[in-house]
Amino acid sequence: MLLKTHLAFAFLLVIFFLEHVNNKIIFVLMVILGSIIPDLDSGFSSWGRHLIFRPLQFFVKHRGIVHSFTAAFAISLFLAFTWPITSLGFFVGYSVHLIMDSFTYEGVQPFWPLRTKSKGFFKTGGRIEESIFFSLVMIDIVVFFLVFILNQV
Ligand SMILES: [Zn+2]
Repeated sequence: MLLKTHLAFAFLLVIFFLEHVNNKIIFVLMVILGSIIPDLDSGFSSWGRHLIFRPLQFFVKHRGIVHSFTAAFAISLFLAFTWPITSLGFFVGYSVHLIMDSFTYEGVQPFWPLRTKSKGFFKTGGRIEESIFFSLVMIDIVVFFLVFILNQV
């Protein structure tokens, strides 16, 4: 999936989780970071196209270990021990990225190194993803309005 779709869904999660976390700014930043990092394994992604990520892309294939809960757990666990306040937001953003990518044709290997693949029915950047993106943006706007303007949810 494209970065914009991941971020549109991450925004929705942030709205729902925000009231329950202590450091809201760090939580939001880490959800965004967790949503971006898995696609660094692709030289065609928004951030992955930067030269600095070429060494990573040399060692891992796209939608391999980086697109797995193995990596999500390992990095989140590392964060939990080194900088605990960042761990939850990072895990939420990363996990949701993986779940969303599992609905695409390419799919993900959620429990790498196990080869079990979870894949879906639509193409990254295709019409269905565009529809999902615009639906998410509409939902984001409505939920944001209800939660922060009207305080209804
Ligand atoms: Zn991805």
